[in-house]
Amino acid sequence: MIIKKLDHIGIAVKDLESSLEKWAEAFAFEKSDPESLPDRGVRVAYLFPKKGPTIELVTPLGEESPVKKFLESRGEGIHHLCFRVKNLKKLMAHFQERGISFLTEEPVRGAGGSRIIFIHPKFFNGVLIEFKEKEDNKEEIIGKEEREKE
Ligand code: ZN
Repeated sequence: MIIKKLDHIGIAVKDLESSLEKWAEAFAFEKSDPESLPDRGVRVAYLFPKKGPTIELVTPLGEESPVKKFLESRGEGIHHLCFRVKNLKKLMAHFQERGISFLTEEPVRGAGGSRIIFIHPKFFNGVLIEFKEKEDNKEEIIGKEEREKE
């Protein structure tokens, strides 16, 4: 199986800090610290439900941010789905065989030392899709063990 699981759901927000506080407090989710990814023009933070996919809040960083354009044209809301994969190279070959191309030629650096790549929304019903490979193939650093115990 090339795809392991749904890793997270990305939500575009205008104000990362206040959104993070609001979600964490209201849903009683644990949260990560915000992380800036200047290469990608985004700032992200995670919310951890007890089970299932995490929620990634994503906000623009800089004028050229793709998320800035998204917010301007569509407003806040669900931005992408991210699937966890073991091997991005194999995954890319799998989709390229089907005539599906990626937004970048090679994977780029994602949050928490992961490697990620995106498929354009035009291929799958308007949904921006991210694939993520953990650098060490270990489970999520923050909160994961704690969550599994419950
Ligand atoms: Zn994401």
